[in-house]
Amino acid sequence: MKILVVEDEHRLADSLRELLEENGFQCDAVYDGETGRACAETGSYALLILDVMLPRLDGCTLARQLRARRLEVPILMLTARSELEDRIAGLNAGADCYLPKPFDTRELLACVNALLRRQSTEQNLLSFGNTTLDLSAAVLRCGACRVGLSARELGVMRTLFQAGEQNVSKEHILAWVWGSGSSAMENHVEVYIGFLRKKLLRIGSNVRITAVRRLGYHLEAPP
Ligand code: CA
Repeated sequence: MKILVVEDEHRLADSLRELLEENGFQCDAVYDGETGRACAETGSYALLILDVMLPRLDGCTLARQLRARRLEVPILMLTARSELEDRIAGLNAGADCYLPKPFDTRELLACVNALLRRQSTEQNLLSFGNTTLDLSAAVLRCGACRVGLSARELGVMRTLFQAGEQNVSKEHILAWVWGSGSSAMENHVEVYIGFLRKKLLRIGSNVRITAVRRLGYHLEAPP
């Protein structure tokens, strides 16, 4: 569970990172909106903690841009501005939760846990075409047929189901499933895509994993 903190007050950003790490989360902290957007777009974070007033790109614009690109990562907005109008603006921009500064660290942790929990129950079942991916059982289902997936297969399939018809690059899959420090290569992804295509055929799924040169993979299913 990796969390991204985007906050230009370095001391606050670093103490948030320490707090989250003490509570068992992996965490990266960045100090401006542009860097925050670049990090968030890698798709490697389970949650974003976003300040509103940020240099280079403000938190509300950043949230709106991520939502426009269909990145559904939960966003917790953090700001000194606690006026109702500002809270509404933050929520309208795509934030899931809004915490005014100064905040109590227990309340922050409670929000983080609630958002992550909500995400995990909402996202236990992903569907595409005539096929469902059950994340908690690590199973692909099509009608009465089902097939189990290994942990890596599940990771790759989850990334593809989440993106649906949008292309997912091999680098993104590698970073998300194998981890950014891993020595796995792009041909590992190709091998797993091969396994998954066979499993889809085996259960009679109408979902196809389509490769697009230089852009990666996306899912297709007949209407
Ligand atoms: Ca700020």
